[in-house]
Amino acid sequence: MITVKVARCGYCGACVSVCPVGAVELAETRLIINEACFDCGLCLAACPVGALQAEDYTEAEVIPLRRGYDVVVVGAGPGGSVLAREAAKLGLSVLLLEKRQEIGSPVRCAEGIAHEMLVPFIEPDPHWISAEVSKAQIAVIGDGTTVARQAEGTQGYILERRIFDRVLAEEAAQAGAQVMVKTAATGLLLEDGVVRGVVARGPDGTMEIECAVVIGADGVESQVGPWAGLDTVLPLRDAMSCAQYLLAGIEIDPACCYYYIGRQVAPGGYAWVFPKGEGKANVGLGVQADLAANSALNYLNRFIESQSHLARGSPVTLVVGGVPVGPVLPCLVASGLMLVGDAARQVDPLTGGGIANAMMAGRLAAEVAAQAIAAGDTSAEALAQYEQRWMAGRGHKMARNYRLKERFSPEQRSSPDFLRAFMVAVGGI
Ligand code: FAD
Repeated sequence: MITVKVARCGYCGACVSVCPVGAVELAETRLIINEACFDCGLCLAACPVGALQAEDYTEAEVIPLRRGYDVVVVGAGPGGSVLAREAAKLGLSVLLLEKRQEIGSPVRCAEGIAHEMLVPFIEPDPHWISAEVSKAQIAVIGDGTTVARQAEGTQGYILERRIFDRVLAEEAAQAGAQVMVKTAATGLLLEDGVVRGVVARGPDGTMEIECAVVIGADGVESQVGPWAGLDTVLPLRDAMSCAQYLLAGIEIDPACCYYYIGRQVAPGGYAWVFPKGEGKANVGLGVQADLAANSALNYLNRFIESQSHLARGSPVTLVVGGVPVGPVLPCLVASGLMLVGDAARQVDPLTGGGIANAMMAGRLAAEVAAQAIAAGDTSAEALAQYEQRWMAGRGHKMARNYRLKERFSPEQRSSPDFLRAFMVAVGGI
C-alpha cells in the first residue's frame, strides 16, 4: 500500500491522474488512498514533491538543524507578517514560518477594515482591494427587517485577503526576514521553562531552530501559547462560529456594508453583507457557540433564503472559521515568548474584527522584542512591556468593548443603546 507524507503533499492531483484503478482521491486538502491500490508505483513517479512512499520505505533520519535567529514568528497572517517586517526593519534577524503552502489561502475572513486602521501599516492598493465602502447600515430582524441605523461618509475597504496577506509577507521578506511556507511549528525548544526556539516540520523534515524570542502569531488555532503553559482556551460563550459565502449575481449598494442583528438570525452574533465589487458580496454570519441550536452554516442558509435579494445569488466560495470574542488574556508573554493577534485573542469582542488589531500588536511586539534583545533580557518580566503597552492603548478599548458586550444580553442586542455602540465599533463600515 502506498502512503502519503502529509508534510510534503501539495494536493496537486498529479498522482490521481496516473492511477489506473482509481485508488487515489484528492479531497481538497487531503489525499486518500483506498483499498483498490495494488502498489503499481505510478503515482510515486508522477508526484512532483516526493510525497508518496511505498510501505516499506523508511525515512532518512532527520538531522536537527540548529540555526540562530533573533526572532522566530509562527504564522504569516497580518499579525505575523507585520511583526516580521517591522522586526527586520529594526535590524533583527527574523524567520517567519507559515504552515500553509500559500500564504493567505484559504481565506477565513469577511475582509472589512476601516481606512484609518489600515493606513498606518500599508498604503491602500487596488491590487488587494475588492471594494471601497463609505456607508454602513444596521437592520434588526424580528418579525420583519427594520433598518435601525445608517452612517455615511466613513471610509473603509473590503480587502482581497488572498493577495493582501501575501503582500504583507513579501514586504517582510523585502525588509530582510526569511519566510518559509509549508513549514509548521510543532513545538517549542524549552530549557528550564525558558523558550529557546521552535521545532518545525517542513517538506524536508524536522528542524530545531534556536532564537531569542518566539512569537506566536498562529491565529485562532494557536498552539504556541499553550506549548509555553499559557492558558488560551476559549469558553464556548466567547467563541463565535462563522460561515460565509461569496455570493455572486446579487444586487446591493456596492459602497455599503450591511449588518443584521436578531436572535433568530444569529444568536449572540450578527449577519453581514460586505460588497466585493459589482454584483458580489461576502455574505456571512457568526453565532455565539453556546447559544446556537444549529450550525452557523445552517443559520446562514436560512438567512439568505429569508432575504430575496440575496437568495437570487449563487455561492462561489464557502468560508468557515472561528473568532475569539473573549476578554483580553491576562498573560500574553512568557520567558522568550510573546503572542500576537488571534493567538492572543486580541479581536474586538463586539465586532469580531481582528485584522487591524493583529497588525498593531505585531508592530508593538516587534518594538518590545528589539528592545529586550538589545538589552540582553528576554525574560517574561522584560517582555511584559508588550502587555503593558497593549493594555494602555488598543487593549484598553477591547476590554471596554468586552464589558459593553457583557452588559447587553443576547436578547438586548437590538436595543438602540447597543446598536449605537455597535455602529461606533464597526467604525461606520
Ligand atoms: P491569522 O490571519 O489567522 O493568521 C495565522 C496564520 O498562522 C495562518 O496563516 C495559519 O496558517 C498560521 N499557522 C497556524 N498555526 C501554525 C503553525 N503551527 N505553524 C506555522 N503557521 C501556523 N477581521 C476583520 O478585521 N474584519 C473582518 O471583516 C473579519 N471578518 C471575519 C470573518 C470570519 C468568518 C472570520 C473567521 C474572521 C474574521 N475576522 C475579521 C477576523 C480576522 O480574520 C482575524 O482576526 C485576523 O486574520 C487575525 O490575524 P492573525 O495574523 O492574528 O491570524
